[in-house]
Amino acid sequence: MSTTPPAGVPHHGRHALGTDDRLMHGVIYARISDDPTGKAAGVERQTEECRTLAESRGVTVVEELIDNDLSATSGKRRPSFERVLELIRSDLIDTVVIWHTDRLYRLPRDLEPLIELADTRPLRFLTVTASEIDLNTSSGRMVARILAAASAAEVEHKVERQRSASDQRASRGTPTARPGYGYRRVDGRDVIHEPEGAVIREAARRVLDAESLRAIAADFNARAIPSPAGAPWQGVTLRQLIRRPSLAGLRVHRGHVVGEFDFELHPAILDRSTYDRLTALFDDPTRSASSRVGHPPKHLLSGIAWCGRCGATLGGRMVRLAPWTPKPGQKSKPVKAAYACGTCHKVRRLQAPVDELVTEWLLQRLERDDTADLLTTGDPEAVRQAREAVDAVTARLASAADLFAAGSIDGNQLARITAAGRAEREKLETRLTAALPTVLPSGAVGSGARAAWADFDIHRRRLIISTLMRVTILPTGPGRSFDPDLIRVDWLTA
Ligand SMILES: [Zn+2]
Repeated sequence: MSTTPPAGVPHHGRHALGTDDRLMHGVIYARISDDPTGKAAGVERQTEECRTLAESRGVTVVEELIDNDLSATSGKRRPSFERVLELIRSDLIDTVVIWHTDRLYRLPRDLEPLIELADTRPLRFLTVTASEIDLNTSSGRMVARILAAASAAEVEHKVERQRSASDQRASRGTPTARPGYGYRRVDGRDVIHEPEGAVIREAARRVLDAESLRAIAADFNARAIPSPAGAPWQGVTLRQLIRRPSLAGLRVHRGHVVGEFDFELHPAILDRSTYDRLTALFDDPTRSASSRVGHPPKHLLSGIAWCGRCGATLGGRMVRLAPWTPKPGQKSKPVKAAYACGTCHKVRRLQAPVDELVTEWLLQRLERDDTADLLTTGDPEAVRQAREAVDAVTARLASAADLFAAGSIDGNQLARITAAGRAEREKLETRLTAALPTVLPSGAVGSGARAAWADFDIHRRRLIISTLMRVTILPTGPGRSFDPDLIRVDWLTA
């Protein structure tokens, strides 16, 4: 072992490294390289060359440390780097042997704690690729800082290169890094994977048909349709899956729609109008998350039935039955669903008999021959198209408002878009109201009405009732039993 101190290592008065203050103790530190060119040494070679260097310079290696963090700049903890600092702080080493300084630090802020430690103790870097850097001299510290600045600049350049490459891809409308569910990458182009494309289209159609995401997810699970991650389908993941702009051929870059894909390179699974309506539906703040994703609404007529006293809509709520005396061992109060006016607080009715009565009246009406005639006249296909067009315009108006809020368009542009959109929507709505309600499939009218009704979920039932009937619950005195005469129905389309 050499006892000659290397040039530039000053003699400190206080020294904890054994009896001979010229004895050098060191640590080998290596970090796995993220260099895609392969020019940087792998961790094995780093360690090997560091060992050779340490031996040739007479350094006793007390530990060999490796970090797995590929970048050294990601902000993740590097346990071995922390260990190096600890060994220096404990005066157990005075030398850090590294392949290149960028293995140990790539940002000035990582170097500074090392320089601070060198204030009060001997400390130097031995590097395979360059030379010795003595942190106890001002010139050594300068070299260390210059190398940190150079590494930091290199990191920034790399980020810039990656960004500009993805910016270029975005502006050319070429596919993103990964094609995502519904697509496969074939020769650099995204092609629709038909089974997955069909799942997306079916989910979109059913969501727009007022079915809950939860019910659709449950159905997909029952049919054993494979999900993207292999886990069971869930409402939330299904929503994320079908609201991706790329499905409509829209290119998103850094969180914003920046244009459209080249159709040859990335075809759309959903047409633009379907996508716009889905977005409007999901973003509609009046549509509570619980009613769309989680539990379906419990009450058939909440928000639909009206208070016969003050004219407000009635809410659904659970009420305690009075009088009530707890039975032995009974913990929770027995409750029943009721409709109640939250405005005047004077009208309240148990839910079950109201629902039963209203449903029966509706079904009797739907079963009537003349109702069937009434509801099936006109052109259902034209009605469907008009309704879709209205929804699409509404969605476009909402998007324009978002663009204005985000500062992407100015007030004049918003005003022009809004005026044009409203005029278009008015025309379409006139066409629509001249026709018949489209909430009823033809099979739901006539002799099959009851069977069809049994198959509808609560969203669809509420939609049909609110389209065809105005239900009013009239006030009643306390303690009276249910009186059908105090439920009034006005037909909206008869
Ligand atoms: Zn009221």
